[in-house]
Amino acid sequence: MASPTKLTMCSFCGKSHAEVKKLIAGPGVYICDNCINICKSVLDKELNVETEKFTGKLDVPRPADIKANLDEHCIGQDTAKKTLAVAVHNHYKRLLHEQQLDVAAEDTPHHGVDIEKSNILLVGPTGSGKTLLAKSLAKMLDVPFAIADATTITESGYVGEDVENIILRLLQASDYDVTRAQMGIIYIDEIDKIARRTENVSITRDVSGEGVQQALLKILEGTTCAVPPQGGRKHPQQDYIRVDTTKILFICGGAFVGLDQIIQKRLGSGALGFGAAKHFETLTEVEKQELLSHVEPEDLLTYGFIPEFIGRLPMTSVLEQLTEAQLVQMLTEPKNALTRQYEKLMWMENVGLEFTRDALKELARQSITKGTGARALRALLEKLMLDVMFDIPGDSEVQSIKITAAVARGDTKPLIVRKADKAAA
Ligand code: ADP
Repeated sequence: MASPTKLTMCSFCGKSHAEVKKLIAGPGVYICDNCINICKSVLDKELNVETEKFTGKLDVPRPADIKANLDEHCIGQDTAKKTLAVAVHNHYKRLLHEQQLDVAAEDTPHHGVDIEKSNILLVGPTGSGKTLLAKSLAKMLDVPFAIADATTITESGYVGEDVENIILRLLQASDYDVTRAQMGIIYIDEIDKIARRTENVSITRDVSGEGVQQALLKILEGTTCAVPPQGGRKHPQQDYIRVDTTKILFICGGAFVGLDQIIQKRLGSGALGFGAAKHFETLTEVEKQELLSHVEPEDLLTYGFIPEFIGRLPMTSVLEQLTEAQLVQMLTEPKNALTRQYEKLMWMENVGLEFTRDALKELARQSITKGTGARALRALLEKLMLDVMFDIPGDSEVQSIKITAAVARGDTKPLIVRKADKAAA
């Protein structure tokens, strides 16, 4: 190594050996400690993604970017997307901030400030995209994601699933990386089914729902869970993995049948104009939807949730029943749209596949009458395509297939054009 003299200077900033703390020599060049630090921070910035994954840190997208991403996968539901985008952005921003404070400055006034968890409640009919939204969020943020069904959860000691098993699913989704799991998202479906149905119109359940709410409450508000790595029931000899649920984001969803009526009752006749003055039975779907958008915590209380549980779900968002036009959009527009998937499958067989606009509308109409929204649509399309998917693979004579409204109604078989027909024409 060349020994620095008074004349040697940093090849990057031009400072002499006397002006810097350290000067390192390479073949014909020198670099000072200052420039090394600058280079280091440039590299750190560029390789940020790598280090972040390593330490369980996150890159938090802006709410507008989150919504734009959700738009790619989910049709409509603008208000819900906005609410989710803001809540998720804030949640992860707080986590990131806390991490940085923890690392950086114990003497700052914000050090050790607790994060207010902003778990989210999604109210919307079956097949309106609640699960899809939660799943898409997790995928976009690259955090582990798990789905649980509230109806299978029981109070500890009863037959059914312990709440710890929900956390186990998240742990499995993160390959047992506890740090990653602790930043994940859990979607709890059918949350309305654990309401205590005493004050409600239909008494289908007794007070047992309250015990499940209590059990869920603990993980919702943040606790250290002892998770049995193999799942199943706990027993004393087992080793447990400890998972802190404080930073896990919970999104709960349910159809909340009857909630609209409760809201109408609270608002009283003539209060706001939107159908509140009418008899509930005479309200249109749009008016009922409008009522839902005025949901308040006290309505959830009347529905049968304990106040502590409601308190742990501070953000509520309402999803709408998809319209016929939206269902058609759903069939064609998202990246993974069902018709696109079938087209691709047929393309692999060198066969063209076309759905006419009327066929799509017919399918949408049928699924609306079934009342399960987008879910029925999938089942309908699968049923419709079953014969095609069975017959076509391996039949090299087929050139293309057309699905019309008549085919969708079941009046006729899919229109198949054979290569020979084409040649003869
Ligand atoms: P929910 O949880 O509200 O009952 P899901 O999210 O499970 O409904 O939706 C059921 C199916 O319908 C999924 O395959 C989903 O991709 C599709 N789907 C539902 N809503 C939408 C939507 N708004 N946009 C696109 N696809 C949707």
